[in-house]
Amino acid sequence: MKFALVIPDGCADEPQDSLSGKTPLQAADIPAMDAVAAQGAVGRANHVPADLPAGSDVANLSLLGYDPRAYYTGRAPLEAAAQGIQLGPNDCAIRCNLVTVEEQMMRDFTADHITTEEATQLLATLQAELGGAKLEFIPGVSYRNLLVWRGGNTPPPFTADTRATPPHDLTDKSVIDDFPRGPGSDLLNQLMSDSVAIFAAHPVNAARRKQGKLPATNVWLWGQGRTPAVPPFAEVYGKQGAMITAVDLLRGLAALIGWRRIEVPGATGYLDTDYAAKGRAAIAALNETDFICVHVEATDEASHEGNTAAKIKALEEIDRHIVGPLHQALAAQGEYRLMVSPDHPTPLRTKTHSHGAVPFAIAGSGIASDKFRTYDEPSANASQLAFDDGWKLMRYFLGS
Ligand SMILES: [Zn+2]
Repeated sequence: MKFALVIPDGCADEPQDSLSGKTPLQAADIPAMDAVAAQGAVGRANHVPADLPAGSDVANLSLLGYDPRAYYTGRAPLEAAAQGIQLGPNDCAIRCNLVTVEEQMMRDFTADHITTEEATQLLATLQAELGGAKLEFIPGVSYRNLLVWRGGNTPPPFTADTRATPPHDLTDKSVIDDFPRGPGSDLLNQLMSDSVAIFAAHPVNAARRKQGKLPATNVWLWGQGRTPAVPPFAEVYGKQGAMITAVDLLRGLAALIGWRRIEVPGATGYLDTDYAAKGRAAIAALNETDFICVHVEATDEASHEGNTAAKIKALEEIDRHIVGPLHQALAAQGEYRLMVSPDHPTPLRTKTHSHGAVPFAIAGSGIASDKFRTYDEPSANASQLAFDDGWKLMRYFLGS
């Protein structure tokens, strides 16, 4: 039996006044997703435990069948895994954003979309001035960089009680009350403060100011954690898997659970992604793997922008170019199960991720048809099929 999961990131939403009280899923023309619902079962699942942050990291870990309470250690270790950075048992990965803070306000959590080349130069200077055997500044893409604490035989100073605020939650807000706190926060705050003087005099920033761009005023450290001890998916569920995504977080999750990662040219992680290329890659992968997962970020990006039309358009593209052809290919090759489900809601109203249940639809071998004919929130909310611990949905989906 072949299994496929399509994740329209953050697509679950609320009824919209601008859509005459419909949600984006209800308003969108999504015949392929509706067919999954009509042929199979619709339900709801909550992938973000109340005491964990409503992030794609927590939610996708759960959607892939892992209890986030047991395995979630932070965002940075997942991104380190995506980059192939090896972490020892006492090492910690920490997100090292380049940001623009002006008059104690988070002016831009991307430092005005600083280029990777500029970021690499800034990180090299940080490494020379502040780095060493214990601290390694590792450039990534644009403003998204990493700091690795190499503990050796010494446990890291950070614990589960260390708190640090994601800079994208602080846009246009005061940062004064949101510096890191708890165990190890002195070190994080010291590094953030040291970076201010280093960056103020840096030629990269001088050149940016000349071009009328915002400077990177300092690093913002957050998302710290050790590598989670996640058992391979094949060990837990007895299936080989592969992931198609344009987002580092999902690449990292795939690496951690022992899945192959399929890179699709034209997959951007944004609204202009090549949906059809992702659909074709998923179908091609069916020959080589038991379980193919296609993650699409565009629905989440549209939500962050508060763009209702773009969210609906993204859903329709996913439906037409991924869910439709993939369902057809699955049915043609023999026994299969197909699930459509986002990770968490990203309401257009708040433009950010939220806790709460999301709708899923499952069709295929051994899945009896229920009374629901459309894939949307009202169907899911009326269904008897509900998973408060969302990570348990995977076992149901696999029929094991
Ligand atoms: Zn997400």
